Amino acid sequence: MYELVIKSSFSAAHHLRNYHGKCEKLHGHNYDVEVYVQGNKLDKTGMLIDFTILKSILEKTLSGYDHKYLNELKDFRGKNPTAENIAYLISQKVRKKLPEQIPMDIGIKVCIWESSRTGACYYAV
Ligand SMILES: [Zn+2]
Repeated sequence: MYELVIKSSFSAAHHLRNYHGKCEKLHGHNYDVEVYVQGNKLDKTGMLIDFTILKSILEKTLSGYDHKYLNELKDFRGKNPTAENIAYLISQKVRKKLPEQIPMDIGIKVCIWESSRTGACYYAV
């Protein structure tokens, strides 16, 4: 199986509801984002997916979160903006934006890093 990975980042503010600790207060992160794409089939050029296409999809997706207060966004109405939920939502948005010629059985994993030592990943199969 082949696996590609691209990295990007965005900055945003959030706070966690129903949580008692430092993160219940408003604060921000410079989130690092990794998107992994897995699949067995390469196209005619020998690519799983063109990095340029994948990067463009990710940047469009992240622009909706960059320099925003995540709790105020529709995506997080009734859902805490945890690294887990952000990873899940980005995986769904990236999958929806993939070009039609990309096989639907492709695997996507998104990892969100809140700091250099703490992150969460979601595997969208
Ligand atoms: Zn936080």
